[in-house]
Amino acid sequence: MNIITIEHIAKIYQVGSEEVHALADVSLKIDKGEYVAIMGPSGSGKSTLMNILGCLDTPTHGIYNFNGVNVSEMNDNELAKIRNKEIGFVFQTFNLLARSDALHNVELPLIYAGVPSSERKERAMEALSHVGLADRMHHKPNELSGGQRQRVAIARALVTRPSIILADEPTGNLDTKTGEDIMALFNEIYEQGNTIILVTHEEYIAEHAERILRIRDGLIEKDEQVKNRYIPK
Ligand code: ADP
Ligand code: ADP
Repeated sequence: MNIITIEHIAKIYQVGSEEVHALADVSLKIDKGEYVAIMGPSGSGKSTLMNILGCLDTPTHGIYNFNGVNVSEMNDNELAKIRNKEIGFVFQTFNLLARSDALHNVELPLIYAGVPSSERKERAMEALSHVGLADRMHHKPNELSGGQRQRVAIARALVTRPSIILADEPTGNLDTKTGEDIMALFNEIYEQGNTIILVTHEEYIAEHAERILRIRDGLIEKDEQVKNRYIPK
């Protein structure tokens, strides 16, 4: 089943008197449970595509159907509802609240999603256990290593049981070994049936996915299945 169907989307920014076609004409289908990497040079349109996929922005033209719903013409309020319930975000810079402990950081999306408080703590603890941080739940980000911070961010992304996980350079701020540990965690999450879309500059990171989309000048230049996907141990 397609969780994502994109038909001929374009995103055009007006910069002074010039039009910038950040996305020129992109069509794309992603199935539930797929693991997709998006690659492309700086300025090729990756962030613009991720913002649209993540319902942070809407296309100028074309249709984006997410989980059976046409989200292309939704207003900010409607988009926010979809985001809070159905999309888990993981960023390069973790984006955790510095003054809150791991548990509170993971609980936060449940507050936005309107989950009753009685249920929140339990679900946040469960998500932290899932990423191997049950014993760190009362630590603040500055008391955690980079890899642990990213695990908290992944727990935060999973806690709402989203339909897709969007990860933007999730290993970009980590050393190679720690990056590999994080990729092993993504692999587990994928094997549990989750849909993952990952932006990366690194070919070897992209090869953890089962499919690579290569973007150039706002177009999908190549859409290929990975022949020997790298499966971390
Ligand atoms: P954003 O997602 O903020 O729009 P990019 O995805 O283009 O930005 O880039 C994220 C970071 O990676 C930036 O700091 C950028 O300078 C850097 N970067 C961009 N292109 C490359 C590349 N080909 N190789 C390595 N680093 C890159
Ligand atoms: P990438 O993530 O691959 O680096 P982006 O999606 O950030 O690419 O950018 C694609 C193109 O759109 C670039 O030419 C960029 O300068 C332009 N662009 C992105 N966001 C905006 C914006 N808010 N306003 C104007 N131009 C933008």
